[in-house]
Amino acid sequence: MKKNYIKKISNWGLFPEVEATERSEDIEKNIREYILQSREVIARGNGRCYGDASLAENIFSTKRLNKFLKFDRINGILECESGVLLSEILELGVPQGFFLYVTPGTKYITVGGAIASNVHGKNHHLEGCFGDHLLSFRMMTERGEILKCSREENSDLFWATIGGMGLTGVILSAEIELKKIETAYIKQEVIKAENLEEIFQLFEESEDWTYTVAWIDCLQKGKNMGRSLMMRGEHALKSDLPAKIQQPLKLKQSLKPTVPFYFPSFVLNTWSVKIFNWLYFHKQRAKMIKNLIPYEPFFYPLDVVNEWNKIYGKKGFIQYQMVIPKEQGYEGMKEILEVISKSGEGSFLAVLKLFGDENPQAYNSFPMRGYTLALDFKVNKKLPQLVAKLDEVVEKYHGRIYRTKDSMSKPSLTNYLKNINSTKFISLQQKRIKKL
Ligand SMILES: Cc1cc2nc3c(=O)[nH]c(=O)nc-3n(C[C@H](O)[C@H](O)[C@H](O)COP(=O)(O)OP(=O)(O)OC[C@H]3O[C@@H](n4cnc5c(N)ncnc54)[C@H](O)[C@@H]3O)c2cc1C
Repeated sequence: MKKNYIKKISNWGLFPEVEATERSEDIEKNIREYILQSREVIARGNGRCYGDASLAENIFSTKRLNKFLKFDRINGILECESGVLLSEILELGVPQGFFLYVTPGTKYITVGGAIASNVHGKNHHLEGCFGDHLLSFRMMTERGEILKCSREENSDLFWATIGGMGLTGVILSAEIELKKIETAYIKQEVIKAENLEEIFQLFEESEDWTYTVAWIDCLQKGKNMGRSLMMRGEHALKSDLPAKIQQPLKLKQSLKPTVPFYFPSFVLNTWSVKIFNWLYFHKQRAKMIKNLIPYEPFFYPLDVVNEWNKIYGKKGFIQYQMVIPKEQGYEGMKEILEVISKSGEGSFLAVLKLFGDENPQAYNSFPMRGYTLALDFKVNKKLPQLVAKLDEVVEKYHGRIYRTKDSMSKPSLTNYLKNINSTKFISLQQKRIKKL
Protein backbone atom coordinates (compact mmCIF):
# COMPACT_ATOMS: atom_id res chain seq x y z
CA MET A 1 0.00 0.00 0.00
CA LYS A 2 1.25 3.51 -0.82
CA LYS A 3 2.43 5.69 2.07
CA ASN A 4 0.24 8.48 3.38
CA TYR A 5 1.51 11.94 2.70
CA ILE A 6 0.23 15.30 3.81
CA LYS A 7 -0.96 17.86 1.27
CA LYS A 8 -3.12 20.97 1.12
CA ILE A 9 -6.65 20.27 -0.04
CA SER A 10 -9.72 22.42 -0.56
CA ASN A 11 -13.00 21.85 -2.37
CA TRP A 12 -14.56 23.84 -5.19
CA GLY A 13 -14.91 27.08 -3.17
CA LEU A 14 -11.17 26.96 -2.35
CA PHE A 15 -12.23 27.68 1.24
CA PRO A 16 -11.33 26.30 3.72
CA GLU A 17 -7.99 24.78 2.83
CA VAL A 18 -6.72 22.00 5.09
CA GLU A 19 -3.66 19.84 5.47
CA ALA A 20 -4.65 16.22 5.08
CA THR A 21 -3.48 12.82 4.03
CA GLU A 22 -5.30 11.55 0.98
CA ARG A 23 -5.29 8.01 -0.26
CA SER A 24 -6.91 6.49 -3.32
CA GLU A 25 -7.25 2.72 -3.75
CA ASP A 26 -9.33 0.48 -5.97
CA ILE A 27 -8.69 -2.90 -4.32
CA GLU A 28 -11.21 -3.65 -1.58
CA LYS A 29 -8.61 -5.30 0.67
CA ASN A 30 -6.53 -2.09 0.59
CA ILE A 31 -9.54 0.15 1.16
CA ARG A 32 -10.46 -1.96 4.19
CA GLU A 33 -6.92 -1.72 5.54
CA TYR A 34 -6.91 2.08 5.16
CA ILE A 35 -10.28 2.46 6.83
CA LEU A 36 -9.40 0.15 9.71
CA GLN A 37 -6.07 1.84 10.34
CA SER A 38 -7.50 5.40 10.25
CA ARG A 39 -8.96 6.72 13.48
CA GLU A 40 -11.08 9.19 11.48
CA VAL A 41 -11.65 9.34 7.73
CA ILE A 42 -14.05 10.77 5.15
CA ALA A 43 -14.70 9.79 1.52
CA ARG A 44 -14.06 12.39 -1.17
CA GLY A 45 -15.27 12.24 -4.76
CA ASN A 46 -14.34 15.08 -7.10
CA GLY A 47 -14.34 17.82 -4.42
CA ARG A 48 -17.19 19.69 -6.14
CA CYS A 49 -18.97 20.37 -2.88
CA TYR A 50 -17.95 23.92 -2.15
CA GLY A 51 -17.06 23.85 1.52
CA ASP A 52 -15.72 21.45 4.13
CA ALA A 53 -17.99 18.42 3.65
CA SER A 54 -15.40 16.10 2.10
CA LEU A 55 -12.44 17.39 4.11
CA ALA A 56 -10.84 15.74 7.15
CA GLU A 57 -7.40 14.89 8.42
CA ASN A 58 -7.62 11.61 6.50
CA ILE A 59 -9.37 11.45 3.18
CA PHE A 60 -10.27 8.40 1.14
CA SER A 61 -10.39 9.57 -2.46
CA THR A 62 -12.61 7.52 -4.76
CA LYS A 63 -10.77 8.69 -7.89
CA ARG A 64 -9.51 5.17 -8.63
CA LEU A 65 -12.94 3.59 -8.19
CA ASN A 66 -13.66 4.66 -11.75
CA LYS A 67 -14.90 1.59 -13.59
CA PHE A 68 -18.18 0.75 -15.26
CA LEU A 69 -19.38 -2.67 -14.10
CA LYS A 70 -22.58 -3.45 -16.06
CA PHE A 71 -24.96 -1.68 -18.45
CA ASP A 72 -28.36 -3.10 -19.30
CA ARG A 73 -29.07 -1.29 -22.57
CA ILE A 74 -32.66 -2.46 -22.75
CA ASN A 75 -33.78 -1.12 -19.40
CA GLY A 76 -31.19 1.61 -18.94
CA ILE A 77 -29.76 0.19 -15.70
CA LEU A 78 -26.13 1.02 -15.06
CA GLU A 79 -23.81 -0.36 -12.40
CA CYS A 80 -20.53 1.44 -11.82
CA GLU A 81 -17.97 2.20 -9.16
CA SER A 82 -18.58 5.23 -6.99
CA GLY A 83 -15.79 7.41 -8.40
CA VAL A 84 -17.25 7.38 -11.93
CA LEU A 85 -18.14 10.94 -13.00
CA LEU A 86 -21.59 11.89 -14.26
CA SER A 87 -19.80 13.23 -17.37
CA GLU A 88 -18.53 9.69 -18.06
CA ILE A 89 -22.03 8.27 -17.67
CA LEU A 90 -23.32 10.82 -20.19
CA GLU A 91 -20.51 9.99 -22.63
CA LEU A 92 -21.55 6.34 -22.44
CA GLY A 93 -25.30 6.80 -22.19
CA VAL A 94 -26.31 9.70 -24.44
CA PRO A 95 -25.15 8.15 -27.76
CA GLN A 96 -27.25 5.09 -26.79
CA GLY A 97 -30.31 7.16 -25.92
CA PHE A 98 -29.98 7.38 -22.12
CA PHE A 99 -29.71 10.40 -19.81
CA LEU A 100 -29.43 10.90 -16.04
CA TYR A 101 -32.79 11.29 -14.32
CA VAL A 102 -31.29 13.91 -12.02
CA THR A 103 -28.22 15.99 -12.62
CA PRO A 104 -26.81 18.98 -10.76
CA GLY A 105 -25.45 22.07 -12.53
CA THR A 106 -22.07 20.42 -13.13
CA LYS A 107 -21.39 17.02 -14.66
CA TYR A 108 -18.00 16.77 -12.97
CA ILE A 109 -19.21 15.06 -9.82
CA THR A 110 -18.96 11.41 -8.88
CA VAL A 111 -21.77 8.92 -8.35
CA GLY A 112 -20.69 8.59 -4.69
CA GLY A 113 -20.89 12.38 -4.24
CA ALA A 114 -24.29 12.46 -5.97
CA ILE A 115 -25.66 9.88 -3.50
CA ALA A 116 -24.02 11.35 -0.40
CA SER A 117 -25.43 14.83 -1.14
CA ASN A 118 -28.60 13.42 -2.73
CA VAL A 119 -28.20 16.05 -5.40
CA HIS A 120 -31.11 17.79 -7.11
CA GLY A 121 -31.42 19.30 -10.55
CA LYS A 122 -33.79 21.62 -12.38
CA ASN A 123 -36.54 18.98 -12.21
CA HIS A 124 -36.95 18.37 -8.47
CA HIS A 125 -40.60 19.40 -8.59
CA LEU A 126 -41.34 16.45 -10.92
CA GLU A 127 -38.51 13.91 -10.66
CA GLY A 128 -37.06 14.33 -7.16
CA CYS A 129 -33.40 13.77 -6.26
CA PHE A 130 -30.61 11.46 -7.47
CA GLY A 131 -31.55 8.95 -4.74
CA ASP A 132 -35.06 8.54 -6.16
CA HIS A 133 -33.51 6.77 -9.18
CA LEU A 134 -30.92 4.78 -7.26
CA LEU A 135 -31.54 1.05 -7.09
CA SER A 136 -28.77 -0.11 -4.78
CA PHE A 137 -25.19 0.49 -3.68
CA ARG A 138 -22.39 -1.42 -2.01
CA MET A 139 -20.83 0.24 1.00
CA MET A 140 -17.82 -0.32 3.27
CA THR A 141 -18.72 0.16 6.90
CA GLU A 142 -16.43 1.30 9.72
CA ARG A 143 -15.69 -2.32 10.56
CA GLY A 144 -14.57 -2.98 7.00
CA GLU A 145 -17.62 -5.07 6.10
CA ILE A 146 -19.13 -4.67 2.65
CA LEU A 147 -22.93 -4.39 2.66
CA LYS A 148 -25.32 -4.24 -0.25
CA CYS A 149 -28.00 -1.66 0.46
CA SER A 150 -31.29 -1.13 -1.35
CA ARG A 151 -34.94 -0.48 -0.54
CA GLU A 152 -35.21 -4.16 0.45
CA GLU A 153 -31.74 -5.01 1.82
CA ASN A 154 -30.14 -3.05 4.68
CA SER A 155 -32.74 -0.41 3.96
CA ASP A 156 -31.97 1.60 7.13
CA LEU A 157 -28.42 2.16 5.94
CA PHE A 158 -29.66 2.79 2.39
CA TRP A 159 -31.87 5.69 3.46
CA ALA A 160 -29.42 7.14 6.01
CA THR A 161 -26.66 7.21 3.36
CA ILE A 162 -28.71 9.05 0.72
CA GLY A 163 -27.94 12.66 1.65
CA GLY A 164 -25.81 11.38 4.56
CA MET A 165 -22.73 13.40 3.47
CA GLY A 166 -20.33 10.42 3.66
CA LEU A 167 -20.90 10.02 7.40
CA THR A 168 -22.22 6.45 7.23
CA GLY A 169 -19.34 4.84 5.29
CA VAL A 170 -17.68 4.62 1.91
CA ILE A 171 -19.94 3.88 -1.06
CA LEU A 172 -17.99 1.55 -3.36
CA SER A 173 -20.36 1.08 -6.29
CA ALA A 174 -23.96 1.80 -7.24
CA GLU A 175 -26.73 0.71 -9.55
CA ILE A 176 -28.78 3.54 -11.07
CA GLU A 177 -31.68 3.84 -13.45
CA LEU A 178 -31.25 6.04 -16.53
CA LYS A 179 -33.90 7.91 -18.50
CA LYS A 180 -34.64 7.22 -22.18
CA ILE A 181 -34.11 10.13 -24.56
CA GLU A 182 -34.57 10.41 -28.32
CA THR A 183 -32.09 13.25 -28.90
CA ALA A 184 -29.20 15.08 -27.23
CA TYR A 185 -31.09 18.39 -27.55
CA ILE A 186 -33.36 20.45 -25.33
CA LYS A 187 -36.35 22.52 -26.42
CA GLN A 188 -35.84 25.68 -24.42
CA GLU A 189 -37.78 28.84 -23.63
CA VAL A 190 -36.05 31.82 -22.03
CA ILE A 191 -38.39 34.37 -20.50
CA LYS A 192 -37.54 37.75 -19.01
CA ALA A 193 -39.10 38.61 -15.65
CA GLU A 194 -38.98 42.24 -14.55
CA ASN A 195 -39.23 41.55 -10.81
CA LEU A 196 -39.63 38.95 -8.07
CA GLU A 197 -43.41 38.75 -8.34
CA GLU A 198 -43.18 38.00 -12.04
CA ILE A 199 -40.57 35.27 -11.64
CA PHE A 200 -42.59 33.57 -8.86
CA GLN A 201 -45.65 33.70 -11.11
CA LEU A 202 -43.61 32.11 -13.91
CA PHE A 203 -42.48 29.26 -11.65
CA GLU A 204 -46.09 28.58 -10.64
CA GLU A 205 -47.18 28.57 -14.28
CA SER A 206 -44.30 26.31 -15.34
CA GLU A 207 -44.86 23.42 -12.92
CA ASP A 208 -45.64 21.09 -15.85
CA TRP A 209 -42.28 21.76 -17.48
CA THR A 210 -39.69 19.09 -16.63
CA TYR A 211 -36.82 21.54 -16.17
CA THR A 212 -37.10 25.06 -14.76
CA VAL A 213 -34.49 27.41 -13.35
CA ALA A 214 -34.02 31.17 -13.07
CA TRP A 215 -31.00 33.41 -12.97
CA ILE A 216 -31.55 36.47 -10.75
CA ASP A 217 -29.80 39.82 -10.86
CA CYS A 218 -29.46 40.03 -7.09
CA LEU A 219 -28.18 43.61 -7.00
CA GLN A 220 -31.41 45.17 -8.26
CA LYS A 221 -33.48 47.22 -5.80
CA GLY A 222 -37.00 48.71 -5.64
CA LYS A 223 -39.36 47.87 -8.49
CA ASN A 224 -36.64 45.88 -10.29
CA MET A 225 -35.81 43.66 -7.32
CA GLY A 226 -35.75 40.04 -8.48
CA ARG A 227 -35.23 40.91 -12.16
CA SER A 228 -34.42 37.58 -13.77
CA LEU A 229 -34.38 35.21 -16.70
CA MET A 230 -36.31 31.96 -16.52
CA MET A 231 -35.04 29.01 -18.53
CA ARG A 232 -37.47 26.12 -18.98
CA GLY A 233 -36.91 23.05 -21.09
CA GLU A 234 -37.86 19.58 -22.28
CA HIS A 235 -35.83 16.83 -23.96
CA ALA A 236 -36.42 17.29 -27.67
CA LEU A 237 -37.94 14.44 -29.65
CA LYS A 238 -36.58 13.36 -33.03
CA SER A 239 -39.56 15.04 -34.66
CA ASP A 240 -38.53 18.37 -33.07
CA LEU A 241 -35.15 18.44 -34.82
CA PRO A 242 -34.49 20.13 -38.17
CA ALA A 243 -33.67 17.77 -41.02
CA LYS A 244 -30.03 18.91 -41.14
CA ILE A 245 -29.34 17.16 -37.80
CA GLN A 246 -28.67 13.65 -39.04
CA GLN A 247 -27.40 12.13 -35.79
CA PRO A 248 -29.82 13.21 -33.05
CA LEU A 249 -27.82 11.64 -30.21
CA LYS A 250 -24.41 13.03 -31.18
CA LEU A 251 -23.03 16.47 -30.30
CA LYS A 252 -19.97 18.24 -31.67
CA GLN A 253 -17.06 18.36 -29.21
CA SER A 254 -15.91 21.88 -28.44
CA LEU A 255 -12.66 23.04 -26.87
CA LYS A 256 -13.02 24.54 -23.41
CA PRO A 257 -11.08 27.57 -22.22
CA THR A 258 -9.39 27.34 -18.80
CA VAL A 259 -9.04 30.24 -16.34
CA PRO A 260 -5.24 30.54 -16.43
CA PHE A 261 -4.59 32.01 -12.98
CA TYR A 262 -6.26 33.18 -9.77
CA PHE A 263 -7.84 36.58 -10.42
CA PRO A 264 -6.60 39.43 -8.19
CA SER A 265 -9.23 40.20 -5.56
CA PHE A 266 -10.17 43.66 -6.95
CA VAL A 267 -11.43 42.21 -10.26
CA LEU A 268 -14.72 41.00 -8.82
CA ASN A 269 -16.50 43.87 -7.11
CA THR A 270 -19.98 45.37 -6.98
CA TRP A 271 -19.42 47.25 -10.22
CA SER A 272 -18.09 44.34 -12.25
CA VAL A 273 -20.98 42.18 -11.03
CA LYS A 274 -23.46 44.98 -11.89
CA ILE A 275 -22.05 45.31 -15.40
CA PHE A 276 -22.05 41.54 -15.94
CA ASN A 277 -25.67 41.31 -14.72
CA TRP A 278 -26.77 44.16 -16.97
CA LEU A 279 -25.17 42.57 -20.03
CA TYR A 280 -26.58 39.14 -19.17
CA PHE A 281 -30.13 40.42 -18.73
CA HIS A 282 -30.09 42.65 -21.80
CA LYS A 283 -28.40 40.23 -24.20
CA GLN A 284 -31.92 39.01 -24.94
CA ARG A 285 -34.13 41.73 -26.44
CA ALA A 286 -37.44 39.88 -26.72
CA LYS A 287 -39.59 39.05 -23.69
CA MET A 288 -39.38 35.38 -24.65
CA ILE A 289 -37.26 33.29 -27.00
CA LYS A 290 -37.75 29.66 -27.97
CA ASN A 291 -34.87 27.61 -29.26
CA LEU A 292 -33.30 24.19 -29.53
CA ILE A 293 -29.96 23.76 -27.82
CA PRO A 294 -27.58 20.88 -27.09
CA TYR A 295 -28.08 19.48 -23.58
CA GLU A 296 -24.67 20.64 -22.34
CA PRO A 297 -25.17 24.44 -22.28
CA PHE A 298 -28.69 23.91 -20.90
CA PHE A 299 -27.66 21.75 -17.94
CA TYR A 300 -24.03 22.76 -17.46
CA PRO A 301 -23.46 26.41 -18.47
CA LEU A 302 -20.66 26.75 -15.89
CA ASP A 303 -18.76 23.70 -17.13
CA VAL A 304 -17.98 25.62 -20.32
CA VAL A 305 -14.93 27.15 -18.61
CA ASN A 306 -12.47 24.92 -16.76
CA GLU A 307 -11.45 26.01 -13.26
CA TRP A 308 -13.77 29.02 -13.23
CA ASN A 309 -13.52 28.96 -9.43
CA LYS A 310 -10.20 30.81 -9.79
CA ILE A 311 -12.03 34.03 -10.74
CA TYR A 312 -12.75 34.58 -7.04
CA GLY A 313 -9.04 34.79 -6.22
CA LYS A 314 -6.86 32.75 -3.90
CA LYS A 315 -8.94 33.33 -0.78
CA GLY A 316 -11.81 31.56 -2.49
CA PHE A 317 -15.57 31.92 -2.19
CA ILE A 318 -18.59 30.27 -0.64
CA GLN A 319 -21.82 29.19 -2.18
CA TYR A 320 -24.75 30.03 0.01
CA GLN A 321 -27.75 27.87 -0.84
CA MET A 322 -30.90 27.87 1.21
CA VAL A 323 -34.47 26.65 0.82
CA ILE A 324 -37.49 28.50 2.18
CA PRO A 325 -40.87 26.71 2.50
CA LYS A 326 -43.14 27.43 -0.43
CA GLU A 327 -45.86 29.38 1.41
CA GLN A 328 -43.33 31.92 2.69
CA GLY A 329 -41.05 31.63 -0.38
CA TYR A 330 -41.82 35.04 -1.81
CA GLU A 331 -41.46 36.99 1.48
CA GLY A 332 -38.31 35.04 2.40
CA MET A 333 -36.57 35.61 -0.94
CA LYS A 334 -37.53 39.27 -0.86
CA GLU A 335 -35.82 39.68 2.52
CA ILE A 336 -32.77 37.70 1.34
CA LEU A 337 -32.42 39.96 -1.72
CA GLU A 338 -32.87 43.06 0.43
CA VAL A 339 -30.04 41.95 2.75
CA ILE A 340 -27.77 41.31 -0.25
CA SER A 341 -28.48 44.52 -2.10
CA LYS A 342 -27.96 46.52 1.14
CA SER A 343 -24.65 44.77 1.78
CA GLY A 344 -23.42 45.63 -1.74
CA GLU A 345 -21.79 42.18 -1.86
CA GLY A 346 -23.10 41.16 -5.26
CA SER A 347 -23.18 37.52 -6.27
CA PHE A 348 -22.15 36.72 -9.83
CA LEU A 349 -24.31 33.70 -9.74
CA ALA A 350 -27.80 33.68 -8.24
CA VAL A 351 -29.89 30.70 -9.21
CA LEU A 352 -33.50 30.21 -8.15
CA LYS A 353 -35.33 26.88 -8.37
CA LEU A 354 -38.59 25.42 -7.15
CA PHE A 355 -38.48 22.18 -5.12
CA GLY A 356 -41.41 19.80 -5.06
CA ASP A 357 -42.38 17.52 -2.16
CA GLU A 358 -39.55 15.87 -0.29
CA ASN A 359 -39.23 12.08 -0.13
CA PRO A 360 -39.82 11.37 3.60
CA GLN A 361 -37.81 8.12 3.36
CA ALA A 362 -34.70 10.02 2.20
CA TYR A 363 -34.81 12.00 5.44
CA ASN A 364 -31.23 13.31 5.28
CA SER A 365 -31.80 15.23 2.07
CA PHE A 366 -31.70 19.00 1.79
CA PRO A 367 -34.71 19.69 -0.48
CA MET A 368 -38.11 20.48 1.00
CA ARG A 369 -41.14 21.89 -0.80
CA GLY A 370 -40.17 25.49 -1.44
CA TYR A 371 -37.95 27.92 -3.22
CA THR A 372 -34.19 27.51 -3.21
CA LEU A 373 -31.64 30.17 -4.04
CA ALA A 374 -27.89 29.61 -4.58
CA LEU A 375 -25.49 32.55 -4.38
CA ASP A 376 -21.70 32.87 -4.67
CA PHE A 377 -19.79 35.27 -2.42
CA LYS A 378 -16.09 36.01 -2.39
CA VAL A 379 -14.43 35.29 0.95
CA ASN A 380 -13.52 38.55 2.71
CA LYS A 381 -13.62 39.99 6.23
CA LYS A 382 -17.24 41.12 5.91
CA LEU A 383 -18.57 37.77 4.69
CA PRO A 384 -19.27 36.08 8.08
CA GLN A 385 -21.44 39.08 9.00
CA LEU A 386 -23.42 38.83 5.76
CA VAL A 387 -23.86 35.07 6.20
CA ALA A 388 -25.12 35.62 9.76
CA LYS A 389 -27.73 38.10 8.45
CA LEU A 390 -28.84 35.74 5.69
CA ASP A 391 -29.00 32.87 8.19
CA GLU A 392 -31.33 34.97 10.38
CA VAL A 393 -33.79 35.27 7.48
CA VAL A 394 -33.59 31.54 6.70
CA GLU A 395 -34.18 30.69 10.37
CA LYS A 396 -37.13 33.09 10.62
CA TYR A 397 -38.85 31.28 7.72
CA HIS A 398 -37.94 27.77 9.00
CA GLY A 399 -35.70 27.08 6.03
CA ARG A 400 -32.53 25.03 5.64
CA ILE A 401 -28.99 25.45 4.35
CA TYR A 402 -27.55 22.93 1.86
CA ARG A 403 -24.72 21.16 3.65
CA THR A 404 -22.86 20.29 0.47
CA LYS A 405 -22.23 23.97 -0.20
CA ASP A 406 -21.77 25.07 3.39
CA SER A 407 -18.68 26.12 5.32
CA MET A 408 -19.90 29.06 7.40
CA SER A 409 -23.58 28.91 8.30
CA LYS A 410 -25.18 28.62 11.69
CA PRO A 411 -25.08 24.95 12.80
CA SER A 412 -28.78 24.94 13.74
CA LEU A 413 -29.62 25.39 10.03
CA THR A 414 -27.35 22.57 8.84
CA ASN A 415 -27.78 20.12 11.69
CA TYR A 416 -30.59 18.12 10.11
CA LEU A 417 -28.97 14.71 9.54
CA LYS A 418 -30.33 11.70 11.42
CA ASN A 419 -29.05 8.17 12.16
CA ILE A 420 -25.43 9.14 11.65
CA ASN A 421 -23.62 7.30 14.41
CA SER A 422 -20.15 6.49 13.11
CA THR A 423 -17.15 7.67 15.09
CA LYS A 424 -14.82 6.83 12.20
CA PHE A 425 -16.44 8.58 9.25
CA ILE A 426 -16.24 12.21 10.29
CA SER A 427 -15.71 15.31 8.18
CA LEU A 428 -14.47 18.71 9.26
CA GLN A 429 -17.95 19.94 8.51
CA GLN A 430 -19.55 17.46 10.89
CA LYS A 431 -17.06 18.44 13.60
CA ARG A 432 -17.75 22.14 13.02
CA ILE A 433 -21.52 21.68 13.11
CA LYS A 434 -21.50 19.39 16.13
CA LYS A 435 -18.50 21.15 17.70
CA LEU A 436 -16.85 17.77 18.32
C1 LIG B 1 -20.79 24.31 -10.61
C2 LIG B 1 -21.51 23.47 -9.60
C3 LIG B 1 -22.87 23.34 -9.69
C4 LIG B 1 -23.55 22.55 -8.78
N1 LIG B 1 -24.90 22.43 -8.90
C5 LIG B 1 -25.60 21.66 -8.03
C6 LIG B 1 -26.99 21.46 -8.19
O1 LIG B 1 -27.62 22.00 -9.11
N2 LIG B 1 -27.61 20.62 -7.32
C7 LIG B 1 -26.95 19.98 -6.31
O2 LIG B 1 -27.57 19.22 -5.57
N3 LIG B 1 -25.62 20.15 -6.14
C8 LIG B 1 -24.93 20.97 -6.98
N4 LIG B 1 -23.58 21.11 -6.82
C9 LIG B 1 -22.93 20.44 -5.70
C10 LIG B 1 -22.44 19.03 -6.08
O3 LIG B 1 -23.37 18.37 -6.91
C11 LIG B 1 -22.31 18.19 -4.80
O4 LIG B 1 -21.50 18.83 -3.88
C12 LIG B 1 -21.75 16.79 -5.04
O5 LIG B 1 -21.94 16.04 -3.86
C13 LIG B 1 -20.26 16.82 -5.38
O6 LIG B 1 -19.82 15.51 -5.67
P1 LIG B 1 -18.30 15.10 -5.62
O7 LIG B 1 -18.16 13.80 -6.32
O8 LIG B 1 -17.45 16.21 -6.11
O9 LIG B 1 -18.10 14.84 -4.08
P2 LIG B 1 -17.28 15.64 -2.98
O10 LIG B 1 -17.49 17.09 -3.17
O11 LIG B 1 -15.91 15.15 -2.93
O12 LIG B 1 -18.06 15.15 -1.67
C14 LIG B 1 -19.38 15.57 -1.38
C15 LIG B 1 -19.94 14.74 -0.24
O13 LIG B 1 -20.08 13.39 -0.67
C16 LIG B 1 -19.37 12.49 0.18
N5 LIG B 1 -18.87 11.40 -0.68
C17 LIG B 1 -18.25 11.52 -1.88
N6 LIG B 1 -17.98 10.30 -2.38
C18 LIG B 1 -18.44 9.39 -1.48
C19 LIG B 1 -18.44 7.97 -1.42
N7 LIG B 1 -17.94 7.21 -2.40
N8 LIG B 1 -18.99 7.39 -0.34
C20 LIG B 1 -19.52 8.12 0.67
N9 LIG B 1 -19.55 9.46 0.65
C21 LIG B 1 -19.02 10.09 -0.40
C22 LIG B 1 -18.29 13.35 0.81
O14 LIG B 1 -17.86 12.82 2.05
C23 LIG B 1 -19.00 14.68 0.97
O15 LIG B 1 -19.77 14.70 2.13
C24 LIG B 1 -22.85 21.89 -7.73
C25 LIG B 1 -21.47 22.02 -7.62
C26 LIG B 1 -20.79 22.81 -8.56
C27 LIG B 1 -19.29 22.95 -8.44
